Amino acid sequence: MRALLPAMIVNRVQDIDLDGLYCDGVRGLLIDLDNTLVAWDRSCIGHEVADWLEQAQARGFSVCFVSNGMPERVARFSAEMNIPAVGRAIKPRKTPFRRALKLLGLTVDECAVIGDQLFTDILGGNRMGMFTILINPLSDKELGSTRMVRRLERRVLKRLVRQGLLSEASLEHRLKGRNGR
Ligand SMILES: [Mg+2]
Repeated sequence: MRALLPAMIVNRVQDIDLDGLYCDGVRGLLIDLDNTLVAWDRSCIGHEVADWLEQAQARGFSVCFVSNGMPERVARFSAEMNIPAVGRAIKPRKTPFRRALKLLGLTVDECAVIGDQLFTDILGGNRMGMFTILINPLSDKELGSTRMVRRLERRVLKRLVRQGLLSEASLEHRLKGRNGR
């Protein structure tokens, strides 16, 4: 169960305390794309998220997208934002994260993983020994298979709360309604 435990939970990427991460020695952000930075059925990254990505880089973070999405889609966002990317990542496998670390020239201890899914982003980041940040999915319009995963995620998160490993308050956005938005 601890392998599924995020180190931090926030509602949106914009809520991440970048100064705090930087002070803790984090220099690289390995970020999921679909439903973390862009709704899975959208073709553009919104202004607020684009601004946040620029702020993060201006603050001194190197950023890499690590996405299980289709390579063409991932490559398009990578070119649009001028941010390196690892596509068709098959998270929670370690290989894509290792490739991202290599692209950024950073170590496991210097990077945080940010994503909306427990069984890919958080499990993968934890397997690598990286700091993991779970965010609330941007869209609640999801494929049937993802909806099943979400139900399973909620069960895991509730169990982590029962075990005293997560606070219920940190999950208010995720556990109420479909995704709390
Ligand atoms: Mg995602």
